[in-house]
Amino acid sequence: MSGRLTVVGIGPGRADLVTPSAMAALNGASDLVGYGPYLDRIPAGNAAQRRHPSDNREELARARFALELAASGRNVAVVSGGDPGVFAMAAAVFEAVEAGDPRWRALDITVEPGVTAMLAAAAEAGAPLGADFCAISLSDNLKSWGTIERRLTAAAGAGFVIALYNPASKARPHQLGAALDILAGARSPDAIVLFVRAAGTATPEVTATTLGRADPAKADMRTLIIIGSDDTRLIAREGQRPWVYTARAEGA
Ligand code: SAH
Repeated sequence: MSGRLTVVGIGPGRADLVTPSAMAALNGASDLVGYGPYLDRIPAGNAAQRRHPSDNREELARARFALELAASGRNVAVVSGGDPGVFAMAAAVFEAVEAGDPRWRALDITVEPGVTAMLAAAAEAGAPLGADFCAISLSDNLKSWGTIERRLTAAAGAGFVIALYNPASKARPHQLGAALDILAGARSPDAIVLFVRAAGTATPEVTATTLGRADPAKADMRTLIIIGSDDTRLIAREGQRPWVYTARAEGA
């Protein structure tokens, strides 16, 4: 099979945060497949390039569509925000390959990494991921809320800094509040909490608060939340937003 499929991460937003390698994959593709607003962020490539925007749901259907295009000999780029391997299209493509047409296994499939929201958000605030951390998606589209509760409890109990992806959406307005309640059962009310909206874009918004004071209504679909560990500290600054970092040494 001659077709190619590259799953490309286009980073959190700023054009200069797209890696040169991802940019080359986008420029070389005959077809771009992805969520419409992500495709809109990509400058026009060669005139013959075709764009196939879709809505944000139905990732598996989109993956199958892209694989069929590649199998017909096209050079397809499947576009994801951030990193395509983090709660995004790369896993959907491999799920489709595993369950799909055996000939898809002969395709040239590669993944181009991108700056994931967690790393962009951490950089806006300082260095909150300086010691052991984990990432949890609060979306229960693909897993049960019971699983999410269990993982939050375990991660909080184990002392990880916790990055929360998908903290809220119109369809799930109450989950972040429930998640913060669970975390409050295992962490001090003084634990530092960061709300970072539009990280790695021209207009990032960083709010540093505490677990006891965090307002779940302040998060939306473009917010990444970081829950600090016992070693996460805030350096206050006069008239400027504080730096937040996690000390590398335990109990330092
Ligand atoms: N593949 C993406 C994540 C997809 S899940 C990545 O690697 O970043 C979507 C969630 O990511 C959003 O609900 C939000 O929590 C987070 N997110 C994506 N872009 C963001 C940004 N620029 N700033 C803050 N959070 C972002």
